Parts: sequence; structure tokens; C-alpha cells
Amino acid sequence: MSANDWSEFKEIVRTQTDLVSLVSESMTLTPMRGGSEFKGLCPFHDDHNPSFCVYPDRQSYRCWVCDEGGDCFSWVMKTESVGFREALESLARRANLEIPKSQRGNGQNEPPKTGLLEVLQWADNEFHQCFLRSPEAAAARDYILGRGFSEEIINQFRIGYHPNDWEWLQNRAKGRFTPQQLLSVKLVGESERRPGYYDNFVDRVLFPIRDAQGRPVAFGGRILPGNSNPNLAKYWNSPESAVFTKSKLLYGLDAARPSINKSKTAVVVEGYTDCIIAHQHGVRNVVGTLGTSLTETHVGNLKRFANRVVLIFDGDTAGRNAAGRAVPKFLAQSLDLRILTLPEELDPADYLEQHGAEAFGKLIETAPEGWEFQLDAELERNGSHTMDGVHRTLDAMLTLIKSSPGLAGTSREDVILSKLSQRLGLQEHVVRQHYQKIRRPVPQKRQPSGENGSNQEQLTNPTPQQEVHFLKRKHSKNERLECELLEILLSVPEWIGAIRQEVGASDFWTTELRAVLEICFDALEEGEELSFERIITRIEEPSLKSIVVWLEDQAKRKQIPDLLRTPASDITPKLLDDLFEQFRMRREQLTQIQLKGELARTSQEGNVQDDDALLRKITDYHRKRATRRKPNDD
Ligand SMILES: [Zn+2]
Repeated sequence: MSANDWSEFKEIVRTQTDLVSLVSESMTLTPMRGGSEFKGLCPFHDDHNPSFCVYPDRQSYRCWVCDEGGDCFSWVMKTESVGFREALESLARRANLEIPKSQRGNGQNEPPKTGLLEVLQWADNEFHQCFLRSPEAAAARDYILGRGFSEEIINQFRIGYHPNDWEWLQNRAKGRFTPQQLLSVKLVGESERRPGYYDNFVDRVLFPIRDAQGRPVAFGGRILPGNSNPNLAKYWNSPESAVFTKSKLLYGLDAARPSINKSKTAVVVEGYTDCIIAHQHGVRNVVGTLGTSLTETHVGNLKRFANRVVLIFDGDTAGRNAAGRAVPKFLAQSLDLRILTLPEELDPADYLEQHGAEAFGKLIETAPEGWEFQLDAELERNGSHTMDGVHRTLDAMLTLIKSSPGLAGTSREDVILSKLSQRLGLQEHVVRQHYQKIRRPVPQKRQPSGENGSNQEQLTNPTPQQEVHFLKRKHSKNERLECELLEILLSVPEWIGAIRQEVGASDFWTTELRAVLEICFDALEEGEELSFERIITRIEEPSLKSIVVWLEDQAKRKQIPDLLRTPASDITPKLLDDLFEQFRMRREQLTQIQLKGELARTSQEGNVQDDDALLRKITDYHRKRATRRKPNDD
């Protein structure tokens, strides 16, 4: 399949996908302006006023606050944390389109995930059927039913069983999958003592671990009670593989997502059993971590659907300590993080069985904020009735605030300090003074170059602040110039020929903008008809897509299409001419700086002849610059 056919296929998938209905599958959209746009709460930032817009005419979306924007592909990539290929495949399936054969499963930088997922899907079915039907699974069924799992929940979470036979799965896979394929998804291990393989998960009840799209990517196995081998771990998870990263996945997220989306609250428990039992009791916004503590990736994932995350820990000492460790990690996150430890040292499953879903819901509802949980714990430890106890608590809390990454100097820090003084009954200025003492002096931030930097600095440092995403930083004059040219390209692409003659990719100093320009030029060279839709489809990187959406929107607001109607003659409009002029000036300025550098070098080396030539070039440049009409600066 040629590059052209490939981009054609992307375009077909895009046109067959209605962005409004796609987005509506995971959030609520309200039609505005007679249906010419749809609004909703932005899933990419903590939104309280609907600032997320979907435009049916352009099939693009954009948030007015966080500037997240893109098309159907970036929507799927962002909301499901998948790569471009998977997003394309998922949308193709959704539109009932056959993926062209030569393209299937050979993505450029991605491992052929589809094959691995097929193996896992097959194994998932084998385990589940075995659990339901096999006489060998009788003990496993007794155990699971004894724990109170309903038939419905067993089917929903597809509980499985692997019999007590080290080659059971390999035998069933014969003629279908090779042992190497089973090994690649960690269903078998390689024997050290003899050539060959052994099944993992022997004689274990299995909990399939699914990705956000509900596809099994790993398994968690629990030994049956009464297992005679004392060396076996009670729980054993699949090791990480090409499709499974422990720190990224949350158990049960596929099942919990609709409910999290609706309630805007995600409840995080520590294991699969607690998670499943909660769902069985109708508490469906519950997910589980997989033997790790909650990571920033987890939180980032949950923030897309929830405003509030409640971490539930067991009521014992280990649980309380784990809760304490979680607090500083997320204190700076723009997220309402609550911590709940269950009374009577119960775990969530036991609590639900003894007290029911309503009582459980009330605990979740009233769970304290992370910092407040920690405050209560400190007060309990130090005592709240003595001055000494209060001061020790204050010290502990200020140290916690100080050590929370990313919190210093934020309004969040301010609020916490103020609430902390209230709770401790101390005057706020006393608390703040004490905090200043505890805090180490922070080194002064370097003034970012760019807008306020000298021209010289901008020229020698063409792409300042690379680490900050383009749409999140203030744009320099140089960046604005490049933007303007791209705005024209995207909104009146008929001018691409003239632009290509005047400006090259090397004239763009901003990495992201240069990438967009190069994509436009590539399209031109491949003879593709240029349009905003075509360009955004060619781009596979979501962050670039959002820049393109933003640029096109800028163009619309500046009414560039009206200013630059389709060229009727060979005369270049003034707007474009001025831009070309500015690019020429910039090129020459850069050359001059390079010349000056050379001059400094050659005069040190005492090369007089070179000196003269360079000086002539520089004077020449200044003469030309003085006679040239000054382009419109704004
Ligand atoms: Zn947003």
C-alpha cells in the first residue's frame, strides 16, 4: 500500500466517523448555535464551565481553556491512551471498515500488538470456559462462590481457572499458537532445567486484567486456599509485556468508566477482589491498582473522567501508612483527592458485606481531603490538647507541604496553609512565618527569553522553552510570524505554491511549527489537494493536531480567508508579501549574526583579507536594510 493509499484510508476513516457521536459516547455534549457547535465539560482539564467545543462542520474539537484540540484520531489517542495505529484501527472497526491487509499489524514503531492481543483473548476464553465447566475447576468454583461472587459478576469479570497441569495451556494452543507466542504475552515461562516451556498460573483462579478498551492484556492469579505448596505466592500477576504496563493500568477501569464519568468520582481500592465485590454491590465507579501504589499515570488517566479520586486503604496499620505515603505525591494535582481508611480494620469487600453499599457510599462521600487525612493522623499521634502536640503537628504538616512536588508557590498551597491555620486554631500569619522558616530558599527562576529577550538572543536561540508545549507558552515575535504563515496555509491553501517559493522549512525556527509546515509541503509534493481536514489527517501526533486546530481557529478569527480570497491574478496580496518580507529580514539578520561571529574569529586570527570581505558584506546589509520599506509590524 503506497503512502497515498494510506493517507486515503485515514481520510476515509475520518469521513466515516461522526466526531459529535464519538465524543458523546464518553461525555455529555449540548448543541449550541443551532447545532453548529456542541459544548461540554472539558475532559482534559478541571472544567467547571463548559469550555470544550466540538465543531461538526470541521470535525474537530477544541477546549478554550486548556487549548487541547484535534480530530477523531487524537480524541481516541488521548482518551484511550493508545497510539495512532490503534486509534485508526479502533475507528475503522467502529465504522465497519476493513483495514487494508498490507497495513495490518506492521506499524512503524509499534510492536504488532494485535497478534499478542489475539493470543490473550483466546487464553481468556479458555480459562473462563474451564472455570465454568471443567470438573477440574470444582474447587475453584467452590472458593469463588464461597467468597460471595454472583454468577453475573463471574461472567462480567470473566473469572477463569488454570488446572493443575504444567502443560495444559500449551496443549490447548497446539495448531493455533506457538509456545513463543504464548511466551511473548507471559502465559508460559521458559524452563531452566530442560529445554521447553511450562504454563504460568497453574492451579490458580484467574482475574483477567483489561485495558481501557476492555481487551485482556494480562492475568492476575490467586492460589486456592489449602494449596499445599508453601513456596507459592498467594497472588501472581503476569509480568509486564509489550501490551501490559503495571503502573499504567487500573483493574476494572473498562467496567467502571461509565459510572466514573457520570459520578465524576473514581474510587481506588488495592486489589481485584475488593474491586469486583464493590461492582457486585452496585458501587460501579471502583477500580483497583495492581499491586503497586497509585502512580501519576494512574491519576492522569482518572483525571480524564473524574474530578474526585477517593483512595481506599485497609483500616490496619499497613493501610494507614500506605495512605500517608500517597498524600504528598498528589497534593499539588488539580484534583480533589480524598483518603478513606475503613473502620474496624476491615477491607472494602468485608465492609460491603457487613454494612452494605449505602453505608459504603456515605463513607466515600465524607472522606477527608488528602492533607486533612494526614492532619487527623498527626493530631491523633501527637495529641491535640497540648501546645506541644499542636506544634509538632504543625511542623509535620508544613514539612509535608514543603516536600510535595510542584506545590510551592501555587494557589493550592495558599489554600492549604490557610485551612491548616484554621484547623489548628493558629493565626494564619504565624503559620506562614513558620512555613517560611521551614522552607529552603528557592533559587530565582531565570527570566525566560523570547518576548522580552533581546532580538540577538531570539536569533541565536531560535526555539526557547522547548520543554513547554507550544500552546501553553507565551509566543515570541518570531513564533507569531511563523504562526501567521501557517494560518494562511491552513485557511487558504491555494497560496501554498507562492509560499513554497519564498519560504523553506529551514526558515521556521520553532520545532512544532516547522513540523506542520513540512507536512504541508509533503502533501504538496505528493500531489494531494490541501485542506485543513487533509492536513490534520496526515498528522498523527496529537500535540501537533492541537496546534493545527488552534492555528485554523486563529485564522478564522482574523478572517484571513476573507482577506486572502482565492488568487485571481498573479499579484501576491499585501498581507502575504509583508510576511515574506519579514522572513527575508530574519534570514538576513541571522546571516549577519553569523558573519559577525566569523569576523570576531578571523580578527583574532589576524586574517586581514577575510576581515575586509566580511566588513563589506555587513555594510552592504545595513545599506539594504535602510532603504527597504519597513514591513508592517502589526
Ligand atoms: Zn480543557
